[in-house]
Amino acid sequence: MRIFESIPDLREQVLNWRMQGLKVGFVPTMGNLHAGHLSLVSLLQTQCDKVIVSIFVNPMQFGPNEDYERYPRTFQADQQQLNTVNADAIFVPTVEQMYPHGLLQTVISVPYSLTGLLEGAIRPGHFDGVSTVVAKLFNMVQPDLAAFGQKDYQQLRVIQTMVDELTIPVTLVAAPISRAEDGLALSSRNKYLSVEQRAIAPKLNTVLLDIAQALKSGNRDFKALTKVGIESLLLEGFDAVDYLQICDPLTLLNSTPNQSKFVILAVASFGNTRLLDNVLLS
Ligand code: AMP
Repeated sequence: MRIFESIPDLREQVLNWRMQGLKVGFVPTMGNLHAGHLSLVSLLQTQCDKVIVSIFVNPMQFGPNEDYERYPRTFQADQQQLNTVNADAIFVPTVEQMYPHGLLQTVISVPYSLTGLLEGAIRPGHFDGVSTVVAKLFNMVQPDLAAFGQKDYQQLRVIQTMVDELTIPVTLVAAPISRAEDGLALSSRNKYLSVEQRAIAPKLNTVLLDIAQALKSGNRDFKALTKVGIESLLLEGFDAVDYLQICDPLTLLNSTPNQSKFVILAVASFGNTRLLDNVLLS
């Protein structure tokens, strides 16, 4: 497995692979890898000949009071994990390479109708940071395919919209959410949880599945379903529920009763540790 720090070296390698007729897949990450990230690599390996994983903790997508500084950086362990799944290359750009003119630069901004709600309402500017860095990474790596997890459902919709509207020649692959046996969605942030919080955490998924079941049985009282869901999360011991909403899977606007496709999105937190989860019904 090769490790690239330089953009020209990486491009030369990708060009070389492409000249051999090989299909190149790409998985952008912020490192601190777990089985969820590795599942994206394995999924792409079924559709590509070579898979490149980038590790870059992107300062542009963190707000001023968020965990950019304390975000775990675990390159050695990440490298070992990527070796176990036979990834072909790791791309590790520096902040200076990514933002040579600082963060006040050209920004890719997907319409506010998609980026101003849910996560975007709580983390202003977050999705501009995400779409800008992903556009830059796509230009650096020039992959044929790129995988993103459905765990970050709104992020996936933002990237899909950017790719469509800017006609970026990359095929997106959406990967299902990898979960622990008890249902908790795997996340780098799970390691911030205490033993007690870790025991409560899977209830987030249980509540979403209960709502999904109610929707499947024809219940369309979205207000009551989300109210009961929020109350039970707080009763279980979460400190706060940032949101719990039943939305249209494409627009992420609140669902209307005549729809048949739904995504139930929630963030519940313990202190500063925010746990994201969603269930897609389509
Ligand atoms: P991150 O390093 O958190 O930016 O995540 C990198 C990619 O891995 C994103 O596309 C995430 O959606 C995806 N990802 C993170 N956790 C999971 C998970 N539990 N299941 C599937 N994909 C995931």
